[in-house]
Formats: sequence, C-alpha cells, structure tokens
Amino acid sequence: MALSRRELLEKAGLLGVALGLSQCWPGLAGASAIDLDLRAQLEQCKPRLQPLEALMAGNQRFMAAWAAAGDAASPELRMQALQLAYGESGCEIDPKALAQGQRPWSAVLTCADSRVPLEWLFNTGDGELFGVRSAGNTAFNEGVASLEYAVANLEVPLIVVLGHSGCGAVTAAMAEATLTPLLEDLVTPIRASFVAGNNLTEAIKVNACYAAAQLPKRSELLQRAQASGKLKIQPAYFDINSGQVSLLLV
Ligand SMILES: [Zn+2]
Repeated sequence: MALSRRELLEKAGLLGVALGLSQCWPGLAGASAIDLDLRAQLEQCKPRLQPLEALMAGNQRFMAAWAAAGDAASPELRMQALQLAYGESGCEIDPKALAQGQRPWSAVLTCADSRVPLEWLFNTGDGELFGVRSAGNTAFNEGVASLEYAVANLEVPLIVVLGHSGCGAVTAAMAEATLTPLLEDLVTPIRASFVAGNNLTEAIKVNACYAAAQLPKRSELLQRAQASGKLKIQPAYFDINSGQVSLLLV
C-alpha cells in the first residue's frame, strides 16, 4: 500500500521540519559564554554616548519622524516617514551574530501597550534593547527576574521604567469597575503608587517612579548593582501625541 506524504514524513521523523515546527524544550543548548569575537560583533552598535544620553538622542530622531508621520497624508507615507528615521540609527547587528547571542546596552521595563514600540521610540536596531513588558509597567515578579538576568548575565548598565500617556492599566486601576482576579493582581501595585488627587497623567508618572523604586527593593541583585554604580534605574514618561520621552526626576 502506498504511503501518504504525511506518513512518509512521520516515518522519517521529518513531519515537524516540514511544518516549520521545532521542539518547545530543546534542552540547554547555547548556554555557554560567548567568545570575544562574537561579543565584539554584538556590541558593534553600542553607542559612544552614555546609555541614557543615547536613548534620549534616539528619541529625538523618533520625535521628528513621528511629527512627519502625523503630517503625512496616507498610511504608506506615514510608514515611509518612520522608516527614514529607523534608518537614521545607522547601525544594525549582523543577524548571524544575533542568532548566537545578545549584548543589549539598555533595558526598558514598559507597558504592553501597542503604542509603545521600543526600537522605534529609541531609534535602535535589533539586539540593542532588552525589553520587559506588562500592562502598567509594574515591578512584577517575572519582570524583576528578567531584569536580574539582564543585569547579571548581559551586564546591562541601565534600566528605564517607561510609563506612557493614556495607559489603560493605570486607567483601570483608578476606576471602580470589577476586574478579573488576575487583573486585580495586576493593578494592585499600581494602586499602591497612587497619590490622592492625582489625575491620570500624574498617576501614570507616579506609577513609573514607584515601579522604578520597587526594583532594588524587590531584588537584592539589582540593589547591589545600583549601590556599586554598575546600574542606573531611571523612570520616564512617553507622550504618544508628541512622541517625546521625558525623564522623571527621582
Ligand atoms: Zn499602558
């Protein structure tokens, strides 16, 4: 009896390959330290400026493109305006190197909101920013652990905690509406940051500052890195309308 193509692939153990699938848990391959040559390639786009200065300079380029996109008459022209700015970063790491490792020069803890695309906002290429995202940019357990990894293993010297205008998670935290149990968990730390009388924008900024302050309190590793001067933690606010990221004074 003739076998079907699927049966042939299954017999050869190739069905997953043919479907573009691979295993969820392929083991611990790739855990070894990267060699110096690879490290140099991965750091080719590391800015000469201090990380925070570099992020702010990148945001200035984004702001110009964001304004141009706002003036453009069609979706196609808007994308052209943004792509021009994206090219202005002037650097992109070799994908073959990125396939083997990463050496990001800054981490950003920010909201899951679709209007906060980190590489656009800071005008960087791939492999430059270590992003941790959850609605409301709180210091949630897995997020703090991810940042511990970035600081301890990737030697990231900067964590920006970025709130943004019109944040739905902070709006939900301010509202009286009934939430699911998991959403209640999510808004609990946001509510803990609240200052009586604050409006939404003020609450978003205070929440970013609160989350930034929580990181070293919740992680001894981050606290030690900050105390030794190896790590800076900076809260900031992104205004979607203007495209501007502004630093918040601690
Ligand atoms: Zn948000």
